Amino acid sequence: MAGAFDRKICYITSMKKMFPFLSKACLLLLILTGSIQFSFAQQKKIRVLIATGGHGFEKKSFYDVFDSIPSITYDTLVQPQANVLIASPEVSRYDVLVFYDLFENISPEQKDAYIDLLKKGTPMIFLHHSVVSYQHWPEFIKILGGQYHTGPVVVNGDTLHANYEHDVHIPVKVEDKKHPVTRGISDFEIVDEVYGDVEILQQVKPLLSTTHPKSMRYLAWINHYGRSDVIYIQLGHGPSAFSNPDYRKLIRQAIEWSAKQKKP
Ligand SMILES: [Zn+2]
Repeated sequence: MAGAFDRKICYITSMKKMFPFLSKACLLLLILTGSIQFSFAQQKKIRVLIATGGHGFEKKSFYDVFDSIPSITYDTLVQPQANVLIASPEVSRYDVLVFYDLFENISPEQKDAYIDLLKKGTPMIFLHHSVVSYQHWPEFIKILGGQYHTGPVVVNGDTLHANYEHDVHIPVKVEDKKHPVTRGISDFEIVDEVYGDVEILQQVKPLLSTTHPKSMRYLAWINHYGRSDVIYIQLGHGPSAFSNPDYRKLIRQAIEWSAKQKKP
């Protein structure tokens, strides 16, 4: 409350410049009664839900990434609780849904809820192993724009055998240096896990790529689904990625840009 009061004092000072003919006491009265609507919106934080579960991870260094973003507040839910919330009206409390889960169980109602949210324009960001989720839900690849199939699949005549390797030095190329999600990030190197032979739909808009022979070509992309721009970021297995400043900037800009895409 003290912070809110301090902000009001600041606003009185700035409002005094805008309305020099009003006394400070008069301005205070107008502000306290809500007669002057000043821009708290700019200071309003982005509300993020982070879904985890189904795959282990180094919690402290993972949440350090989100704790380092001043523009957000976040709640975390472990599956299946996240999917229960997503299929409830409570989901409207959040501006951006972030998935760091690897989950298989999803009810028909929960599937409908994902699709309805995306049709409304709810931003979703999928991270790392979330690309392995929902092997038996054909719509999921259309939502995320790609999928790590846990068994061999034939795609355009090629048989994909998805695989992974840890602790790889990955050269990362920024495909679109002007996009708000990647703006200000130069090509960089990161030590992280790679996935190989992942199916990626041709429709995605690539943000990051790599030439590493053991990795899938694109490491981040945007996929349009419904009225939403869904972001997928492959990077992010553990502390070596979470502490990387380029990775942190990518996550921050992905959340901040996604929040702006949210449809009213
Ligand atoms: Zn991993």
